[in-house]
Amino acid sequence: MYKQAPNPKLLIDRFGREIDYIRLSITDRCDFRCVYCMSDNMTFLAREAVLSLEEYARLVKVFVELGVRKVRITGGEPLMRKNALQLFEAIGRLPGLEELLITTNGSQLEQHAYALKQAGVNRVNISLDSLNATRFRKITRVGDLDKVLRGIAVAKQAGFETIKLNALLMRGINDDEALPLAAFAIEQGLDISFIEEMPLGEVQHSRSASYVSNDETLQLLRSRYDLINSTATTCGPARYWQVPSKKTKIGFISPHSHNFCEACNRLRISCQGELHLCLGQENRINLRPMLRDFPYDDGPLKQAIINSMQVKPKGHDFDLNRSTPAVIRFMSHTGG
Ligand code: SAM
Ligand code: SF4
Repeated sequence: MYKQAPNPKLLIDRFGREIDYIRLSITDRCDFRCVYCMSDNMTFLAREAVLSLEEYARLVKVFVELGVRKVRITGGEPLMRKNALQLFEAIGRLPGLEELLITTNGSQLEQHAYALKQAGVNRVNISLDSLNATRFRKITRVGDLDKVLRGIAVAKQAGFETIKLNALLMRGINDDEALPLAAFAIEQGLDISFIEEMPLGEVQHSRSASYVSNDETLQLLRSRYDLINSTATTCGPARYWQVPSKKTKIGFISPHSHNFCEACNRLRISCQGELHLCLGQENRINLRPMLRDFPYDDGPLKQAIINSMQVKPKGHDFDLNRSTPAVIRFMSHTGG
């Protein structure tokens, strides 16, 4: 990937946090219906309501000009967006962009992994919550574990810098899979992160009943492996542990047990062009008018993004014991 370091650092919020990372959702649609992510009766946005691939490319260019160096494309399932590869090709070699990442459920990687690598994607996160095909189907409601495993195999061949698995454990559903999932990651030479379930959107189960603390998962893994507290950091919310004499790092994203907001370096953009300043708060700014009303002038768009730094909240407000979710929107809408 072509690298250059103009980083003008124009995005610094009221708490002195420098924003150099955006996560962009390019669709709210998905071929899976994971029980923690979606309700059983989701309605999706009309096609006209989401931005075009050209508009996403313009947004990414503008953010990079403002100092962003890392871009994650997500969704919904980003590879379900028609012609998604064109977007990766358009942004993959932007001067100043150092890392281009994708978060995917892996179902389409068998076809697309090589093209993504070719376009400039250097890191891939693949969600994998179970190694048991029946259970995998139950969690995703429709997913095919074999297809995802084949996608992981092709992604390995394609030669990305890192491939990281994301696993979300739920009490009574897959909380006995921490060790098997970690063992799979180690055997495959991949990283793995365990993510605590967040109360985003109303789902069919009780999130407080299904919650598994990452402290518990870490304790379990440390009883099997002599994990070494790793200095590796993504400047983000995960804490990492190295598995001795293996490639694998094990990460923990723990919004409940370890609040990570003070190190927040990111913004999220929904597939409709709303700039979300915090995953766990409603503060947002609609960038679409600036995109559409000023098609040839990036000035108003840039100014709106710079101004948004004044309303980025200090932190999230997740509380599993509330009767209604703190945030009504689903992760698939904002982009995980
Ligand atoms: N479809 C892709 C995938 O599954 O990787 C990308 C989008 S998905 C919304 C991104 C990540 O969000 C996944 O790793 C998923 O496990 C996580 N996720 C979804 N809903 C969540 C929730 N309520 N709490 C915590 N993580 C969640
Ligand atoms: Fe789809 Fe990803 Fe949400 Fe699962 S977690 S339903 S794969 S967007």
